[in-house]
Amino acid sequence: MAKYVFGIDLGTTYSCIAYVDETGRATVVNNSEGTNTTPSVVNFASPNQVVVGQVAKENAVIDPNNTISLVKTLMGKSDFATNYNGEDKSPEEVSAYILRKVTEDASKLIDAEVKDVVITCPAYFGTAERTATKNAGIIAGLNVLEIISEPTAAALYYGCAKEQDEKTILVFDLGGGTFDVTIMSISSEKIEVVCSDGNHELGGKDWDEAVMRYLAEEFIAQTGFDGEFDEYAQQDMRLKAEKAKQQLSSREEVPVMLDAAGLRARISLSRDKFDEITSTLLGEAIDKTDAAIAVAKDKGYAIDEILLVGGSTRMPQVTEALVSRYGMEPKILEPDEAVAKGAAIHAVNVYVNNQKSLEPDAAGETTVTVGGTTKEINADDYKEELAVQPEMMSIGGKTQKVVVATTKSFAVEVSVNNGSVCHNMIIKNQAMPDGSISVSEEFGTKDANQENVEIVVYESDFMDENFDIDPDLVLGTATLELSGDLPARAPIEVTFTLNTEGILEVSGVDKTTNREVHATMQSKGIMAVEKVDELKEKSKKMVVM
Ligand code: AMP
Repeated sequence: MAKYVFGIDLGTTYSCIAYVDETGRATVVNNSEGTNTTPSVVNFASPNQVVVGQVAKENAVIDPNNTISLVKTLMGKSDFATNYNGEDKSPEEVSAYILRKVTEDASKLIDAEVKDVVITCPAYFGTAERTATKNAGIIAGLNVLEIISEPTAAALYYGCAKEQDEKTILVFDLGGGTFDVTIMSISSEKIEVVCSDGNHELGGKDWDEAVMRYLAEEFIAQTGFDGEFDEYAQQDMRLKAEKAKQQLSSREEVPVMLDAAGLRARISLSRDKFDEITSTLLGEAIDKTDAAIAVAKDKGYAIDEILLVGGSTRMPQVTEALVSRYGMEPKILEPDEAVAKGAAIHAVNVYVNNQKSLEPDAAGETTVTVGGTTKEINADDYKEELAVQPEMMSIGGKTQKVVVATTKSFAVEVSVNNGSVCHNMIIKNQAMPDGSISVSEEFGTKDANQENVEIVVYESDFMDENFDIDPDLVLGTATLELSGDLPARAPIEVTFTLNTEGILEVSGVDKTTNREVHATMQSKGIMAVEKVDELKEKSKKMVVM
């Protein structure tokens, strides 16, 4: 069997899988329904069967309580996404079924094992969300080579498409549930993230809701209906609102037929009206874009090109707003497929690079370095030759180095004259040229004879040097035990090391006695390894359709 590696765009509303085929082309694999994207909707149909995709999306109308959409918005934040049959289902488990659907369908269609994957996530995802995404892959039985940011993947695909001089591009990614703006500097050798911003609660679903509100008002005006829309009517309205919105991308006006409580109305929606009722939403995306451009400008970058990614950029209002604001015609980059295809290209790079670094260590064990961490592997797993050789890819064998930037700030709590503040050691949007960043700073103990020092770590979007304490932002605490006889202000060195996957290693050294503490910081929202293993076993027993 030919060996392939895959890229998966695990989207808020739709997911997509791609691979680089024998001819070196990034290609999307359709699902068993024959479409290139799969709705990220999961319906728990029975205790041992889950339905994923278009059928689940339609089931949402008849079985709303057992159907879950937009699970990505809960990644890393919530213990459970839904309750089925008396059992809480975590966002990781629900996402794993989406991954199983797209990988199992792809495996059947191209008759290949789908195991090694790169999964994408929004640029603003922090440690908890990235780890949750990786865990979803593990629960689905996959070997997750790396998690990369969606705009980086899109730029990789774009960057691979042609030779070019160095350029600064802005990736405007408006998907179903999230908005991401990322500015990157790209050349044929390197892709570097300059800065990123976004609103993870802004996406096509908000445009759907604006249309739903309009439809409800018109329905009431036409029929005189004065009750509440039941769940069935709301789901029906939601599907029709999304369909009308999509049709308005290519038509000036669409009719919508609505039935509720035995009443019927025919509502007409024009593109002008649609643009009017959604203008504040678009305004929010433009404001974020302005902010990102300002950060890039401070770093000396001016935008040469705007790339559109995400299904919602098909709305003509997006291009119109960007042209009028920035005087630049944006390029549309296969909105549904670019991210998965870029992830597939990255998967080849990661896989090939891993094979190269496959060497026995001092103890004779074989290790491989993935995402900055070295782990032991079964060498045979890595011996398989890929069906495609990178030389055959359109980049001609050149590996584009991907330089990412930090997507969050990491701070340590320090005492100041009148209390405590959070002091940022790593600041959001800092470049990570070697795939990781390490920062050390020296602080002093507060009191004489302190027994220990608590290194309290915060993860946030704040970019100032210091900011106010907020307990909700605590990532974790490492306790450095002291000898108990140090004077006040004894030097303590704190080091933060962040890797590309957003995992933070924290260490503290008492410079007087060289006592040390090391800790890996994981957010509260991160699932325990045992739980991931347990869910992986459970998932195997479920049939995904
Ligand atoms: P994504 O998360 O990138 O897959 O984007 C999905 C979002 O794109 C959903 O909200 C879709 O309704 C929206 N979308 C897809 N096609 C169109 C279209 N032709 N016009 C407007 N929105 C669209």
